[in-house]
Amino acid sequence: MDMITRYFTITGGYELTVMEKFDTLIVGGGPAGLMAAIRASSLGQKTAILEKNPSLGEKLLLSGHGRCNFTNALDDTDAFIKKYGDNGKFLYSAFSRFGPRDTLVFFANTGLDFVEERGKRVFPKEGGSQKVLDRLLLECKKGGVKILRSSPVKAVKFKNHRVDCVITDSDEFTADKYIIATGGKSYPRTGSTGDGYTFARQAGHTITELYPALVPIRTRETWPKLASGCNLRNVRLHVLLDGKEVAERFGEMEFTNFGVSGPIVMDLSSHVPDWSNKGGELVFSLDLKPSLTHEILTARVKREIEKFTGRRRFTGLVRLLVPAEMVRLILELSDIPHDKPIEYISDEEIADFVSLLKDIRMTVNGLWGFNNAVVTRGGVSLKEIDPATMRSKLCDNLYFAGEILDLNGPSGGFNLQICWTTGYIAGSVNE
Ligand SMILES: Cc1cc2nc3c(=O)[nH]c(=O)nc-3n(C[C@H](O)[C@H](O)[C@H](O)COP(=O)(O)OP(=O)(O)OC[C@H]3O[C@@H](n4cnc5c(N)ncnc54)[C@H](O)[C@@H]3O)c2cc1C
Repeated sequence: MDMITRYFTITGGYELTVMEKFDTLIVGGGPAGLMAAIRASSLGQKTAILEKNPSLGEKLLLSGHGRCNFTNALDDTDAFIKKYGDNGKFLYSAFSRFGPRDTLVFFANTGLDFVEERGKRVFPKEGGSQKVLDRLLLECKKGGVKILRSSPVKAVKFKNHRVDCVITDSDEFTADKYIIATGGKSYPRTGSTGDGYTFARQAGHTITELYPALVPIRTRETWPKLASGCNLRNVRLHVLLDGKEVAERFGEMEFTNFGVSGPIVMDLSSHVPDWSNKGGELVFSLDLKPSLTHEILTARVKREIEKFTGRRRFTGLVRLLVPAEMVRLILELSDIPHDKPIEYISDEEIADFVSLLKDIRMTVNGLWGFNNAVVTRGGVSLKEIDPATMRSKLCDNLYFAGEILDLNGPSGGFNLQICWTTGYIAGSVNE
C-alpha cells in the first residue's frame, strides 16, 4: 500500500500523535531488521525501521571483536544446519532461498570484499563491522527505507489475531506487515533487552526457556584465577557428567578470575543447561598435552629431568612444560614441593605430575549471565512460525527474524547467518 495515512489525535489534552502507515514495519535495527528492510524495500515495499537506540547495529559493531565474522564458508548445507542442533531443521526451507552462499553474493554485490579464515570464518577484507554496517545502511538508503532512530517500541496492539499498530513514546504506526527483529537478551547494553519476547507473548506465542549462550563458565574451584588471562592453544577439554564423558572439544581456551572462557568453552556453554538439567555433577577435564600419550609425556618429563639434573627445581621443570602464565596454577595443584630438586622427584610423583598435565579437573558451577553472553539460547517457539515465510502461525501479519527466534549456533559466523537468512525471508513478499 502506497498511500500514507496521516491523522492527528489529541491525547492527554494537547499532545499530538501522528500515525503513518507503511507496507512493512520492522521493530529493531540490528542485522536481522536491516536485512529484512533491504529485502522488503527492494521489492517496492514502503518500509520503516523503528530502532530504540540513537544508532543502528550496535551489537553488529561488536561482532568478531569489531572484525565481524559475518558468515561461514562451510559449503555443505546439511553440515551447516547441523551446527544449530535439532532446531536447525527449521532453516532448510529458508536456506534454500537465502543461504550462506547467497549471503556472500549479497555482500559482494554491495561492494564488500571478504576473506575466509581459520574454520571457514568469513570476515570483511578491511573495515570490519563498521564496513558491514555501512553497506547495510547504504542498501536501506537505496531502497528508501525510513529509519526512525531513538524510537523504542513500547507496545504492540493486537486485534482479531492481527497486529493493529505499534506504539512508541510519541507515535503510533500502522502497517500491512510487522516484523519483530528486536534480538535476544544478550549484551543488553546494545539495546537487546528482550522487549520482543513480551510482544511475542502478547500475540500468544510460546517463548522457550531462555539461557545465555556462548558465554564464559564459572567453576566451583577458585584457583583458575591464578592463571587468569592465560590463553591455551591446542588443548582438549573433556566434559564429564557424573563421571561419564558427554562431550569433548579441541582448540583454544583461557582461564578467568571466575572459571574458564575462550572458544571451546563458549561453544560448550550452549549445552551446559541440558547437562545441568539432567542433574549430577558436571566436570571439565583439561588435557594440556592432548597430542602426547601418558607414556610419551612421562618419557619427555624424564628426559627433561635427566637433562637438567642438579640444575633445576620442580618450578623450573614446570616452566619447561607449560606456558609461563600457567606455572603458578600447576604448582598450586601439584603435591610436589616447588623447590624440590628435580633429581629427587620420584617415579610416583612423575606419574602424578603427568596425570595432572593431562587431567586438570574443574567443576562447572553455572554460566555467566546475559551481560556477557554472545547470544541467547531459546526464544520464540519455532513450532509457531512458518519456516517458509517467518510468519507467525498465530497472528496473520506478524513476522519474526534474527536472534529472537529459538535458534542459535556456535561461534564461527553461524549466528549472523541466522539473521541474514531469516531477515531476508521475513522481508520477502509472499504470494
Ligand atoms: C560481543 C559479540 C560478538 C559477536 N560476534 C559475532 C560474530 O563474529 N559472528 C556472528 O555470527 N555472531 C556474532 N555475535 C552474535 C550476533 O551479533 C547476533 O546474533 C546478532 O546481532 C543478532 O541480530 P538481531 O538483529 O537478531 O538482534 P540485535 O543485533 O540484538 O538487534 C536488535 C535491535 O533491536 C533493537 N530493539 C530492541 N528492542 C527494541 C524496541 N522495543 N524498540 C525498538 N528497537 C528495539 C535493539 O536496540 C537492537 O538494535 C556476536 C555477539 C556479541 C554480543
